[in-house]
Amino acid sequence: MRYLLRDQNKFFFKIKKSPHVFLFLDYDGTLTSIVSAPEKAKLPLAVKNSIKRLKASPGFTVAVISGRSLRDIKSMVGIKGLIYAGNHGLEIEGLGRRISMPAGSSAGPGIKKIKTSLDKTLSCIKGVRVEDKGRTLSVHFRLVRPGKRRLVKNIFRRIVRPYVLSKKIKLSSGKMVLEVRPAVEWDKGKAVVALLAQSKKALPVYIGDDRTDIDAFRALKGRGISIFVGRPKRAVGADYYLKSPRDVAALLHKFTLLSLTKV
Ligand SMILES: [Mg+2]
Repeated sequence: MRYLLRDQNKFFFKIKKSPHVFLFLDYDGTLTSIVSAPEKAKLPLAVKNSIKRLKASPGFTVAVISGRSLRDIKSMVGIKGLIYAGNHGLEIEGLGRRISMPAGSSAGPGIKKIKTSLDKTLSCIKGVRVEDKGRTLSVHFRLVRPGKRRLVKNIFRRIVRPYVLSKKIKLSSGKMVLEVRPAVEWDKGKAVVALLAQSKKALPVYIGDDRTDIDAFRALKGRGISIFVGRPKRAVGADYYLKSPRDVAALLHKFTLLSLTKV
């Protein structure tokens, strides 16, 4: 696994050679550091400025793709006119339209009901937060005492089990978060492929730090460049790794210097 900031010649050669770069950016843990509460993950100003410059450059298209709800991710990034994919790509907005993916699908059945049960049963554990994201639901447990985290997982599993068995929902997980999703075949990888359908000549570059990003790495295999943020050992399917959001900021800055010359 190559560390991108040390091994960048081939990478930048490819970038410079391609007529257009379609940049996919995860948010938490990629553009911002992982913090104690989701609302504290503010986008650093330098990163925001880099993204704005890339958006204005004809050589780049930028999409932010996150597990947060579409509304949440849009307000966290705060740049008008970007492509945004929320709820792991179940909600996409950009290029002048807003769509639910897969086309025509609706909110996950039972999400509200599951939230009510989880709220009730998990309220006795300090630090748990159940977040209704519309089409999906997240249980954050970063603030729960380490000794109680297994209990959170066990209660979660017990509550969601009947819904999983009746195939109403699917489960996934990320860094200190458990998730309920509608039982549709959809993930960040499928969202990326859908977005790329209109930009056949673009070179896709995907940067992400978590398990859900691996679906996108897989989808781009042989077509684009995948960059994992974190320890190389966990970078399943990526072409390169970066060590931290700070590295990502440095890479985005390099892109902006390039974008001045790229047409
Ligand atoms: Mg992330």
